Amino acid sequence: MALIVQKYGGTSVAGIERIKSVADRIIDSRAKGYNVVVVVSAMAGQTDELIAFAKNAVAEPDPRELDVLMATGEQRSAALLSMVLQSKGVDARSLMGHQVAVRTDSAFGSARIISIDSDSIMKELEQDRVVVVAGFQGIDGNNNVTTLGRGGSDTTAVALAAVLNAEVCEIYTDVEGVFSTDPNLCSKARKLSRISYDEMLELASLGAKVLEIRAVESAKIHNVQVHVRSSFTYQEGTMVVAETRDMEKVLVSGVTYDRNAARITVKKVPDRPGISSRLFKPVSDAGIVVDVIVQNTNEDGYTDLTFTVTKPDFQKAMKLVGDVAGAIGAEKVMGDLDIAKVSIVGAGMRSHAGVAQKMFQALADENINIMMISTSEIKVSCVIEEKYTELAVRVLHRAFDLEANDRT
Ligand code: ADP
Ligand code: ASP
Ligand code: MG
Repeated sequence: MALIVQKYGGTSVAGIERIKSVADRIIDSRAKGYNVVVVVSAMAGQTDELIAFAKNAVAEPDPRELDVLMATGEQRSAALLSMVLQSKGVDARSLMGHQVAVRTDSAFGSARIISIDSDSIMKELEQDRVVVVAGFQGIDGNNNVTTLGRGGSDTTAVALAAVLNAEVCEIYTDVEGVFSTDPNLCSKARKLSRISYDEMLELASLGAKVLEIRAVESAKIHNVQVHVRSSFTYQEGTMVVAETRDMEKVLVSGVTYDRNAARITVKKVPDRPGISSRLFKPVSDAGIVVDVIVQNTNEDGYTDLTFTVTKPDFQKAMKLVGDVAGAIGAEKVMGDLDIAKVSIVGAGMRSHAGVAQKMFQALADENINIMMISTSEIKVSCVIEEKYTELAVRVLHRAFDLEANDRT
């Protein structure tokens, strides 16, 4: 019998009525002849609430205990959905991360899945049961509870679809699929019927939270067909698939934004080999991810070095860089929290010139100053003042004709 993995996000299980309608959808899929393995998130807002509880209790919650706490959100929705399925005459069982044996490393709060033992799930399926797996959680080598990072239920779902060889991994969410930009920010956003893994990877890492990055990585590696769709309607959503030649015809398929960025500039850094390495070493040792980096060499033997980090890492990074800057004789360190990054993504950029220039022109036409630029094969990102984020997204969406450009 064919198998399908269905993941329901926070809004899709946000209350008992929503859970009942999820149960009906699962029953529909069974009626079509599928074995169904379900992955659930915590109810909308609950993970944030649990984190707030912990932070109210202590200033810096212990990471191990925080994971134990956060994992309870998914445990609750898995149990509730199983009960509701049972009440509708379906044999269903919830399984927690440790029962499925979702093995992870020990990076509490952002653990990576190492392996999944599908035996426990297969045994339930043989009994003709629906299995409801608590997403976002696993156990490390010492049987500690771990969580996979925000949005991690997507990753659980794709990893399960890969090990169970599912026909498709359906990601049910509160929008109808992957759009040309965030439909909650831009009313002209258009649903894409297909998107390549690489484009989705860029969109996800540049701020489109509709799919978690590691989920996309895993789908690409294991060639899992992912169908992002709404749990509120029965329309087809977006298929995330391997790239096909026709995808290169579209220059830009999406615009993203990320407000969670902050900028640090080190002025007048002596221009000598090894200096950048010294500056970034303590930052990377502290586990802080650095994003865009720009360095300008002046003729007087000094450089200005600017880079971005996430807003929560800003204070710590300022302190670490400030310490080294003093030691290497840099003039000063400046910080700016009021920035955002807007990006355009498209497989067509590989084979077409002038895309970046068109982006710069569109921003210039609105008098939006570009502070930093970074590019890859299929994306261009610009760092701008945060207050222009929404405007920038809208003008870029218009400039690249995304309202009329769906791939069918
Ligand atoms: P879930 O709780 O179901 O996992 P998320 O909130 O994580 O849902 O992701 C869905 C949200 O992603 C949407 O409500 C939307 O605001 C946001 N989003 C951002 N960019 C995009 C995009 N390009 N396409 C679709 N949704 C997007
Ligand atoms: N509940 C977790 C979160 O809010 C995981 C998820 O929803 O995917 O990040
Ligand atoms: Mg999500």
